[in-house]
Amino acid sequence: MTTNALNSPRFCNTGTFMRMPQFKSAEGLDFVIVGVPFDTGSSYRSGSRFGPTAIRNISAMIKPNNVQLEVNVLENLKGADYGDISIIPGYIEPTFEVIEKELAPIIEAGVIPICLGGDHSITLAELRAIAKKYGPVSLVHYDSHLDLNKQVFGQNHNHGTPFRRAVEEGIIDPHTSIQVGMRGSLYDPDDFKIAAELGFKVIPADKVRELGLKETGRQVRERVGNKLAFFTLDIDFADPAYAPGTGTPEVGGFTSFETLSLIRETKEINFVGFDIVEVLPAYDSAEITAYLAANIGFEFISMLALKKKLNR
Ligand code: MN
Ligand code: MN
Repeated sequence: MTTNALNSPRFCNTGTFMRMPQFKSAEGLDFVIVGVPFDTGSSYRSGSRFGPTAIRNISAMIKPNNVQLEVNVLENLKGADYGDISIIPGYIEPTFEVIEKELAPIIEAGVIPICLGGDHSITLAELRAIAKKYGPVSLVHYDSHLDLNKQVFGQNHNHGTPFRRAVEEGIIDPHTSIQVGMRGSLYDPDDFKIAAELGFKVIPADKVRELGLKETGRQVRERVGNKLAFFTLDIDFADPAYAPGTGTPEVGGFTSFETLSLIRETKEINFVGFDIVEVLPAYDSAEITAYLAANIGFEFISMLALKKKLNR
């Protein structure tokens, strides 16, 4: 899958995630990396259209062995990098259609997409494509925001609304879904109540601190059980000290270590898709945000590899 940096320097032949081969056909693949460089749904800073490229560049640093999960992703999985979806800057709904259309054959073939955003609005289109094959899935949502607004600027589609739309469209099952890491100031103090009324379980950031990483992980696993699930990770889940390159940062967040640990806690869950969104390279510093995002992608791949290894 990847090129070994013991033989070929890391800065050579870059351009794909972990220097994986480029996508040619879905046949025989376990997963694909898909760039979705769309940031028209951003409400504050824009520029996450450059996220996929930044994540791919620094992903050359990643090696195939996941020591914590005790798995080698090369030995257990076949993956490729699809490149970027042909999004249409400035046009949300036509872009959603393109995302859904391009993901469909991949998902239909049983290949697991790992999408690199782009702003969080894109996840709605991904979930539409996922639901077409699998029906409504459970959502594991790590973010500092709930993204459950009814509308933003009087519009239905924005990076603050995707999961409200997903519930309305019946493409996720909120009753087996969980939102983790929420914090920061709010317009409506009842936002957490609204999330609960929609059916979600929410573990805000301060509660995660109180419970600890293991117990938080246990509650996430208990919530989803053996349902098929989609993991969406907004990089602003991590504290801006660890992920400054993002559009709407919130202080009081998680370290890189905590972020990766909380992801690994979900390794038993049956994921059928993943994304990592809101990486905004223009505000990044020394590629730390992009590197965290690349490592999150590696954790996602490692969890798939571990499942395959254990099912063998
Ligand atoms: Mn967010
Ligand atoms: Mn978000």
